[in-house]
Amino acid sequence: MEELAMKKIYEVVDEKRIFTDKTDLYAYGFDASIHHAMPDVVIKPESSNEVEKIVKIANEFGIPVVARGAGTALCGQAVPIFGGIILDMTGMNSIKEIHIEDLYCIVEPGVVYAKLNEAIAKYGFFFPPSPGSGDVCTIGGMISANASGMRAIKYGATRDYVLGLEIVFPHGKVRFGSKTLKNSAGYQIERLMVGSEGTLGIITEATLRISPLPKKRAVALASFDSVVKAGEGVAKIIGKGMIPSALEIMDSVCIQAVNKAMGIGLPDAEALLLIEVDGKPSEVRDSIEKITKILENEASKIEFTDDEEEMTNLWKGRKGVLPSLSRYGDDKVSVSLADDMCVPISKIPHAIKKFQEIAKKYGIIVGTYGHAGDGNLHTKVLINPTDEESWKRAEKAVDEIYKAVHNLGGIASGEHGIGITKAPWINGDVETMEKVKKALDPKNIMNPGKMEQWKEGIIAFLRYK
Ligand SMILES: Cc1cc2nc3c(=O)[nH]c(=O)nc-3n(C[C@H](O)[C@H](O)[C@H](O)COP(=O)(O)OP(=O)(O)OC[C@H]3O[C@@H](n4cnc5c(N)ncnc54)[C@H](O)[C@@H]3O)c2cc1C
Repeated sequence: MEELAMKKIYEVVDEKRIFTDKTDLYAYGFDASIHHAMPDVVIKPESSNEVEKIVKIANEFGIPVVARGAGTALCGQAVPIFGGIILDMTGMNSIKEIHIEDLYCIVEPGVVYAKLNEAIAKYGFFFPPSPGSGDVCTIGGMISANASGMRAIKYGATRDYVLGLEIVFPHGKVRFGSKTLKNSAGYQIERLMVGSEGTLGIITEATLRISPLPKKRAVALASFDSVVKAGEGVAKIIGKGMIPSALEIMDSVCIQAVNKAMGIGLPDAEALLLIEVDGKPSEVRDSIEKITKILENEASKIEFTDDEEEMTNLWKGRKGVLPSLSRYGDDKVSVSLADDMCVPISKIPHAIKKFQEIAKKYGIIVGTYGHAGDGNLHTKVLINPTDEESWKRAEKAVDEIYKAVHNLGGIASGEHGIGITKAPWINGDVETMEKVKKALDPKNIMNPGKMEQWKEGIIAFLRYK
């Protein structure tokens, strides 16, 4: 990076919050994906004014800027592939305002999802998107990825809760959106930022809608002797007009991995569905009865619980799938490839069957789990990452998986985003995306090279030697 640019940065940010040590740069080169690249400098801003000044300098000198929350992105979104500046947004972590009666709160982007929920739970409210990484991931990262999770089937994704944003674009700081629940007063640029993965501007403040917490919850664990039957069960539940607050699937690879790594004692089945219902106690009772009836021919066993400890334990098992998969086989780890496709709900059994065939064809292990209730499947490819041949087979399998997903009417990502690892399968017209990007970021400094701009193969900038 140019010396003059660095000098200017030291003039606007306290040097205690500027990091150039090699160890820091190395650590900030990772997110949770297969990719890695070192930035030239890491800066931890404390205010939107500071962000504005840094972006102005970066724009003047044409330096790439990559915003970073908790770095849990799974597709390389937070990896600075062309070096430049990492903006560590975790220092901007204040919950500025909570307005229960108006159903909104205003937060800085570095607020952690779980912390926001802790703060509003005491009023009987919650911010629902609920990603599996919710204990650590930040609001800025969630908006930029349109994160969601187990409860999206009933409560929607982050995009459904973004009312307004303060954004720093290369041309300066601006505000879009409102504090009102409805807004038809102009371009909804705040919505354009949802899923933009840091490629347009930096979010420095968010106004978010919040929801009342349901009075009661109950969770069912249903066992199946085939993963296809479990998929059919999902389509049947939804087809009967039931919308549970969560409807998760785990195949036998995932069940065994969780039991091995966490000792949770999940049933030894070919597939499990974890079904959560919420609402008033009478509604919960009614839903339990209906779902049990719907699944009576598909499930080999179904058990409900409303015991808090048991429910927490079951969710712990589900949330532990991703890290547990790396303990499944002795020399294999789970790599984030083909990890987040979305298909129409009725196509879930077809998709899972196809993934299994593809895995067999290429001699790799694929574990399938995820938010089956909204058609969002997470497959994880288990390979030995030090073996070049395994990567080649995985790359071919991934390509076939996405082709199958496309043929079933699905898309490459339901919630984890595009980054590098899913760039070849991005949804929508790439030329139009580039026009929007050019209009807002003419010098291409905002997280350059990602999404529609990535034109190479996906096994690139590998974190593994
Ligand atoms: C174990 C595990 C489980 C996960 N489960 C889920 C899940 O259930 N659902 C789900 O949706 N995702 C999940 N993810 C993916 C990831 O956690 C989410 O995408 C999360 O929202 C990323 O937040 P973050 O703070 O870590 O962002 P980062 O990884 O730091 O950044 C993500 C993207 O957002 C951009 N960004 C960050 N902050 C800003 C800002 N202030 N302004 C502009 N751009 C910004 C970055 O440049 C990057 O492109 C999971 C990841 C892991 C490791």
